[in-house]
Amino acid sequence: MLVEGAIFDADGPRAAYVRLDRGRVVETGALGTDSTHGRVPKVRGIVVPPPLNAHTHLGDAVSTREPPGSTVDELVAAPGSYKYRVLAGASPTAKVRAIRSALRRLAREGVAGVVDFREEGLAGIAPLRRAASDVPIEVVALGRPLVRPIDRGELARLLRAADGIGLSSAREESRETRREVARACAALGRTYALHASEAVRELPETYLDPRPDLLVHLARATPDDLRAVRDARVPVAVCPRANALFGRQPDLRTMERLGMRVLLGSDNAMLQSPSVWRELEFAYASSRLRGNPVSAEFLARAALVTPWAWLGRPGEARIVEGGRARPLILRLPPDDPSYQIVTRTTEHVIVRSPARARGRDR
Ligand SMILES: [Zn+2]
Repeated sequence: MLVEGAIFDADGPRAAYVRLDRGRVVETGALGTDSTHGRVPKVRGIVVPPPLNAHTHLGDAVSTREPPGSTVDELVAAPGSYKYRVLAGASPTAKVRAIRSALRRLAREGVAGVVDFREEGLAGIAPLRRAASDVPIEVVALGRPLVRPIDRGELARLLRAADGIGLSSAREESRETRREVARACAALGRTYALHASEAVRELPETYLDPRPDLLVHLARATPDDLRAVRDARVPVAVCPRANALFGRQPDLRTMERLGMRVLLGSDNAMLQSPSVWRELEFAYASSRLRGNPVSAEFLARAALVTPWAWLGRPGEARIVEGGRARPLILRLPPDDPSYQIVTRTTEHVIVRSPARARGRDR
C-alpha cells in the first residue's frame, strides 16, 4: 500500500509518501518520487508510529456506573475508597473480562502499548497478564506491594511477575518504602513509578528522591517544581481528562516551554475510556479553555514519540525505510499533520492495512 501525504514521527511532521508491506515501511521519500508507477493501491493520509497509553488503571474498568462525586482520596486513592471497594467486590473473572475488553478497545484504536498501574499486590498481576494474553498489545504491568513496612519477600515475588512498581504517591509512602522499592527495581532493571502532585502539591524533593523512572500527573506542580523535574530528567505521564473531573489540569504549556519529557495517559478506567485519541483532543481543547494553549505538535509527540523513547526503543517512533516502526495510517488531510492528528483522530480514520489484518502481502 502506498500512502501519499505526510509523516509525523520522531523527526516531526513533513510531507512524504510511504510504501508499506506487511505493516513495515519499505520505501519513503518526497511526494511524487515513489517507484511504484501507479501499480500499488494508494491512499491519502498521515503515517504515524502507533501511540502508547502511558498511564492506566484498567482493573477498575469493572466499575461501569457513574462514580459518586467526591474527592480523589475518597474515590480512588486510599484503601477503603470507592475504587478499592469496587475491586474487592468484583470476582477475578469479572476483572479479567473488564481488563480484556479495555485492552481490545485500545488495540482496535491502534494503541500499541499501555503502562498499567495494577493494585492488589501480587494477586493483581495475574488477571492483567491473563487478560492481555490474547490481545495484540504490549502491557507494562506496574504492581503495588501491599505490606508496609516493605516485606522483601513480597516485593521480590511481585517483581518476578510485574515489570516494575507503581506507587500511590510520596505523601502516602514513607521515604524508606520509596527507597526500598526504587532500589529493588533498579537492581532488577525494572521500572519504579509514582503519582505526584495530583490532588495537592507535593515537594519535588520528596517525589524525586529516589529518582523515579516515571511520574504521573503533576497537576498541582508549580513552574519551579516542573523545572526541578525537568532538571532531574524525569519523564511525566499527564492525564488531563482525569484531572479535569476533579477541577484541575497539568500545566502543559509550561511543560512544553521547559522541554519536559511528557507522555499521555488516561488514568482510571472507571472514569473514562482509555482512548489516547480522546485524551489528545481534550488536552488540546482544555489548554485553550484555560487560556494557556499548548501546541498540537507537543501533544502528538507525547502520544506517539516520547513513550517509545521511554521504553528504550526510540527506533519504533521513526518512519524510515527498513525501520522497526509498525506505523498506523490515518486517513486525514495531510497539510497540517500535528493539528489533524490531535483534533481529528478516531479509530474510524485508521486504515487497516490488509497485510496486517489478514496476514497477507500488500
Ligand atoms: Zn493513576
